[in-house]
Amino acid sequence: MASRYRTDVLVVGAGPVGLFAALELAERGIKVEVIDGQWRTAARSYALALHPGSLELLDRHGLAEELVGEWPGVESDPAVAGGAPCIVRTRIPLWVLESYRRQGWTEARILANYPTLRAADLVQAWAYIAAHREAIDAAIEENEAA
Ligand SMILES: Cc1cc2nc3c(=O)[nH]c(=O)nc-3n(C[C@H](O)[C@H](O)[C@H](O)COP(=O)(O)OP(=O)(O)OC[C@H]3O[C@@H](n4cnc5c(N)ncnc54)[C@H](O)[C@@H]3O)c2cc1C
Repeated sequence: MASRYRTDVLVVGAGPVGLFAALELAERGIKVEVIDGQWRTAARSYALALHPGSLELLDRHGLAEELVGEWPGVESDPAVAGGAPCIVRTRIPLWVLESYRRQGWTEARILANYPTLRAADLVQAWAYIAAHREAIDAAIEENEAA
């Protein structure tokens, strides 16, 4: 039997825009429903950067600080590679990838050498390395000297 419900606003699409609109509406006491064609949440985040305008919006809800400085594609585990930052769900340290890049390896060659890596992992790796240049340089130097 078909059910009926009423809402003030129906948001179609639970992406960042739909969810943020729903949050803003709900905070103003407006009844809102969110529906999406997909039944599952996004499998992963592609975001590498947040625009100043997005950060301002998030800051209004106290979410900006929590997000800045987060690298979902990178993890450090003291038990893996001496705690060096690695591509998430792998044991591949970022300094190793950067070292190959400096030796002139193409992304295609790196991906062929590490079948568990995806192109998106490299995008995240290069962004993380650019933001942590000194630490990565130090790790490469340390390992070259060893
Ligand atoms: C590889 C990649 C990297 C990116 N990197 C960044 C970044 O670093 N920084 C940044 O700010 N932005 C980035 N973006 C852009 C960012 O992902 C988009 O701007 C953002 O997702 C747009 O949000 P949205 O809610 O408008 O749409 P979407 O995120 O596309 O969400 C739309 C939702 O609507 C649903 N939907 C669609 N049609 C229907 C329908 N007919 N019925 C029901 N549901 C429907 C979909 O299932 C989906 O959940 C990136 C995008 C890609 C692809």
